Amino acid sequence: MTAPPGPLVESRRVGKWRVHAIQAGGQKLDGGAMFGVVPKPLWERRIPADQRNRIPLGMRCLLIEHESGLVLIDTGAGNKENEKFHDIYGVENRGENGATQLEDGLRDLRVQPSDVAFVINTHLHFDHGGGNTTQTADGRIVPTFPNARYIVQRGEYEFATHTNERTAASYFPHNFVPIHEAGLFDFVEGEREILSGVSVVPTPGHVPHHQSIRLESDGEVAFYLGDLAPTAAHLPLPWIMGYDLQPLVTLETKRRILARALSDRWLMVFEHDAMVAWGNVDHDGKAYFLS
Ligand SMILES: [Zn+2]
Repeated sequence: MTAPPGPLVESRRVGKWRVHAIQAGGQKLDGGAMFGVVPKPLWERRIPADQRNRIPLGMRCLLIEHESGLVLIDTGAGNKENEKFHDIYGVENRGENGATQLEDGLRDLRVQPSDVAFVINTHLHFDHGGGNTTQTADGRIVPTFPNARYIVQRGEYEFATHTNERTAASYFPHNFVPIHEAGLFDFVEGEREILSGVSVVPTPGHVPHHQSIRLESDGEVAFYLGDLAPTAAHLPLPWIMGYDLQPLVTLETKRRILARALSDRWLMVFEHDAMVAWGNVDHDGKAYFLS
C-alpha cells in the first residue's frame, strides 16, 4: 500500500477565517480519462502514470472556521464501498480505528462530525459526497454530520437520482438519499450566498449542475474549484477530463472563471491534486498555469 498523497491537514487564513484543507484520501484514476483529448506524452510530463496507466489524485476537502459555524466543503469517498471498488479506483481513505481519513483530519483539528454546521457538496459523485453518510458497525447508513445542513444544487440532486448508462457509475443513492430522507438537504438554485462571504457559484460542464464555492473575507477571495479544474495540471483551458459530460461547457466555464481568478488574484483550491492544495494562477499569453 502506498502512502496517501500530501499532508493530512494544511491550514492558512483567508481574510479573517482559518481554513483547513483536509486530504480525505488518495485515489488513482486512468490518466487518459483524467486528461480527455490531451495526448499522453504531454500529460505524463505533469503527472506520471503507474503500470495500470493510473495517476495519483487526492480528495481534498475544505473546512472553514466561519463565525456562523463550521463549514465543510465536500466529504471524500466515505466508508461504504467494498474492496473491489477500492481497488478499481485506487481509493485509500481508511483512517484509524474504523474512521475515514476525513474524520482523522477533523479529529486532528479537534472537530467532531457533530460540530459541523454546514456541508456544501460541489456535486454528488462518490468521491465528493461519499462521506456525506457513514455505515455504522451494525450496517445502518446514517448522516455523517447529523447537525449539519447539507447544501447542493437542486438540479444536481435530480440528476443524481435520475441516472442513465453513462452517469450511473458515479452516483450511489446511499451517499445522498439518506440525507434527503433525514431532511438535511437545503437545495439551492443558481448562485447564492449561503453565509456571509460564502457563496455557491454554478460551474457547469463536469456535470450540468456542478457548483464551486467562493469564499470572500476582508477583500481576500478563495475559490474551491471542485471538478472544474481538479488538479493544477488542469489549468490550461483545453486540459479537460474525459469524464466531463459537457466538455465544451467546461471550456467556457473555465474561460470565465480563470479570467476572474487571474485579474482578481483569487486563491484557487484544488480538490484532486495529490500535492498542491492551493495557489494563484498566472497566464503567459498562451496558457494558464500555477504561479
Ligand atoms: Zn471528482
